[in-house]
Amino acid sequence: EFVVGVDLGGTKIAAALFDSEGQLLNREQMETAGAKTAEEVVDRITSMIRRVSDGRLLRGIGMASPGTVNSRDGIVIHGTNLPEWSHVPLKAWMERDLHTEVQVLNDANAAAWGEYVRGAGRGSTNMVYVTFSTGIGSGIVLDGKLFLGSNSFAGELGHHIIDPSGPRCNCGSHGCWEVFASGTAIGLAASERMLTQSSIMSELAAGEPGVSAKHVFEAKRLNDPVAVEVIDRAIYYMALGLVNVIHSFNPDRIVIGGGVSRAGDLLFPQLKEMTDKLVMPSYLGTYELVPAELRDDVGLVGAAALFQ
Ligand code: ADP
Ligand code: ZN
Repeated sequence: EFVVGVDLGGTKIAAALFDSEGQLLNREQMETAGAKTAEEVVDRITSMIRRVSDGRLLRGIGMASPGTVNSRDGIVIHGTNLPEWSHVPLKAWMERDLHTEVQVLNDANAAAWGEYVRGAGRGSTNMVYVTFSTGIGSGIVLDGKLFLGSNSFAGELGHHIIDPSGPRCNCGSHGCWEVFASGTAIGLAASERMLTQSSIMSELAAGEPGVSAKHVFEAKRLNDPVAVEVIDRAIYYMALGLVNVIHSFNPDRIVIGGGVSRAGDLLFPQLKEMTDKLVMPSYLGTYELVPAELRDDVGLVGAAALFQ
């Protein structure tokens, strides 16, 4: 019995065929741009699924989609990076075309489930997955089950408000966690200061559209004082949010993914130390903080794992 996982992203769509053990057998991807309407995107996805499955009988198709997703009915309510995507009945359209059960998850929830079943979350019971990327995404696994909430909207930890007098967030609120601790926030904080104060970062970012979190971590490796300061502050805010997560869910493991997690040793020891410093003492030693193991395919792996 085979399963297909699909990751629908703002820039690319990837689809992969898995066997019942979760072994990846076949994978394909294409650019999202070019297809204008939701119908066109769905047509492309269904032909990708037909190609990767190559006539094999499927137990199900798991889809990861950006934005707000109604997982019960398989409707993409608002596709954040997919313009024109509003109330798209993905499940109904695809089941009509492919005659196979389709499940749709928000991409962060799919990634959380992927890490839980196939990655760094294996063996834990209560796990929270947090991705520090362009924004901050998250997904929550409680008692071994993906926690979706009443409307499948749960897990928007990136929009926990940690300072109502803080800068405005894309969601319309002020001072959300992601405004202080995402990769974008790190890049912005550095670019506000680097031109006058950091020649190392100016050089690293030369020829690129702007300074990004990646440059800031590279500059920190070179002991650039501005980078050190920007990252200290970002890690303080990352830890502050993680402490809220720990106090809310009492997880035994927090899995950290996203581009910023690639900073590895420049991030993890300091983040652990700061989290331990800010958490209530009774929680010390109750959680592990570990890097994600799955990379680009985490969303489609997690969506497929819904059927495995
Ligand atoms: P997306 O949000 O599109 O899923 P990513 O998860 O790759 O993208 O996150 C992008 C962010 O990660 C950017 O802010 C980028 O600067 C940052 N990033 C990428 N690689 C690294 C790295 N090695 N160290 C620190 N930050 C990184
Ligand atoms: Zn927000």
